[in-house]
Amino acid sequence: MSASLESTPAANIRALFLGTSSMAWTDGRSTWLVDGFFSRQPLSEVIFTRLKVDETQVSSVASEMFKRLNMPSTLTGIVVAHSHYDHSMDAPWLAKQYGARVVGSESTWQIAKGQDLPATQMDVMPGNGRVKLGEFEVQLIESAHAPTGFTGGFNAKPVFLPAHALQFKEGISYSFVVSHPDLGPAPFALIQPSAGFVPGQNKGVNVKHVFLGTGGLGKSSDAYISDYWQEMVVNTGAKQVYLIHWDDFTQPLINQGQLASLKPMPKLLDDFPRSLELLKMFSERDGVTLHVLDAWKLVNF
Ligand SMILES: [Zn+2]
Repeated sequence: MSASLESTPAANIRALFLGTSSMAWTDGRSTWLVDGFFSRQPLSEVIFTRLKVDETQVSSVASEMFKRLNMPSTLTGIVVAHSHYDHSMDAPWLAKQYGARVVGSESTWQIAKGQDLPATQMDVMPGNGRVKLGEFEVQLIESAHAPTGFTGGFNAKPVFLPAHALQFKEGISYSFVVSHPDLGPAPFALIQPSAGFVPGQNKGVNVKHVFLGTGGLGKSSDAYISDYWQEMVVNTGAKQVYLIHWDDFTQPLINQGQLASLKPMPKLLDDFPRSLELLKMFSERDGVTLHVLDAWKLVNF
């Protein structure tokens, strides 16, 4: 089964990338999301104000997403990578609109409670677990956040909106391993939303595709970036790597009615050209194809 960008799918399984680690996955029968963070408020709002879901923007992005996937406007689930606002904030709102359940940590549950998501629509997961989303199965593995200055902590109380970005505490950072019976019994993809890892976390995981979070990686040492690549790509035997969470998430996905392209994170927070250069080197060395995913790109499996 070969994969390529924008080609005719062999099985009907595909993922639409939507910036940060947000993605919509479908098999043509049901659709689920990673994160679904579409508000992407401007930087000045993030720094100086308390945030709420930008309902107009989130619903425009969601409508365009369903249209591009050629799928009805319903979601089976939303798996939330960790509880920082750029992953978790819009998930409860989307879950209520499109009938999904939210899958995530206790910390994410507090964010959902703050938005009145019914308990029946929340699956609180320990560090490791499995969920069925339509015919997909997603295995959650407890991982680690990228070593930025914003890690750690749990939300112990509901996070009511509006809330400042710093009120969204990390909780558990997960990796997701995806399988689907149409692609055989073994998993085919690993999603690593944040550029962190727990040594040995992917033991026994063999996948062809890795969605590799790079946010903040450019500020890490060469040794760290190399270890991260080893853990996520070499140890899983992946041959196709798609870079995610490399973008400036204070820029919208739809701007004045037009679908926008992504820009790298500002130099203050990241150095994407530097991580890209290293990752390119590793991919050539290891015979891996590296893709930098722009928003609205469809990956077919
Ligand atoms: Zn984070």
